[in-house]
Amino acid sequence: MTAEIRVFPCLSDNFGYLIHDPATKATASIDAPEAGPIISALEREGWTLTDILVTHHHQDHVGGIAELKRKYKCRVVAPYDKTTPIPLADERVKQGDTVKVGNLAARVIETPGHTLDHISYMFDSEHALFCADTLFSIGCGRVFEGTYPMMWESLLKLRALPDATRIYCGHEYTASNVKFALGIEPNNPALKKRAEEVTKLRAANKPTVPTLIGDEKEDNVFLRADVPSVAAAVGLAGKPAADVFGEIRERKNNS
Ligand code: ZN
Ligand code: FE
Repeated sequence: MTAEIRVFPCLSDNFGYLIHDPATKATASIDAPEAGPIISALEREGWTLTDILVTHHHQDHVGGIAELKRKYKCRVVAPYDKTTPIPLADERVKQGDTVKVGNLAARVIETPGHTLDHISYMFDSEHALFCADTLFSIGCGRVFEGTYPMMWESLLKLRALPDATRIYCGHEYTASNVKFALGIEPNNPALKKRAEEVTKLRAANKPTVPTLIGDEKEDNVFLRADVPSVAAAVGLAGKPAADVFGEIRERKNNS
């Protein structure tokens, strides 16, 4: 039986995610931005929280853990602490580890850069990737703790996943990302198409996730730092992709 995934807003622009295994009734929350909307989503479905899969230590991803753990006695799976500790973790995971949610299995992919501890969870059988603040739709996370080459390597790991992989990212930043990306690639047809789609989704108050790896390869400028026309567009023709990526990220920081 395939997993059921629910998407709902948390805080000002975070996504809340539940993944549920109908066979065993196990349910995981990916991160815990805040307890209230996660509890509401669980109650709407009649599900009980068994696991929280944490991606990184930022408050908008761990703030709801304590309340959820008190209420559901759920297991908290998290990366190893690198800079700031993640509260109430029961299990620590690293690159290549498998996390079970009932019969569902997530593969841990280390994706440092935004923070040093950042990991992503790939449910291969579901073609579903939860990548929080590493890869956004038409964007990527700010590089706070790592380096640009480190973040670029992390993005390459995600870009190498099958094209049909559905991306569930940490924030609803897509509209602003599209605007920025069009500034660099105004004539990218895939990006122009995505821009129209995003305008419609946001006007209908619908989330812009999930998106597909295959599409992001075509329309996400941050995944395209090794495309010659993108390097040229930021004045770095012939330069290493990590440098081009760093330049694009800097421009976004200052946009
Ligand atoms: Zn973050
Ligand atoms: Fe975040």
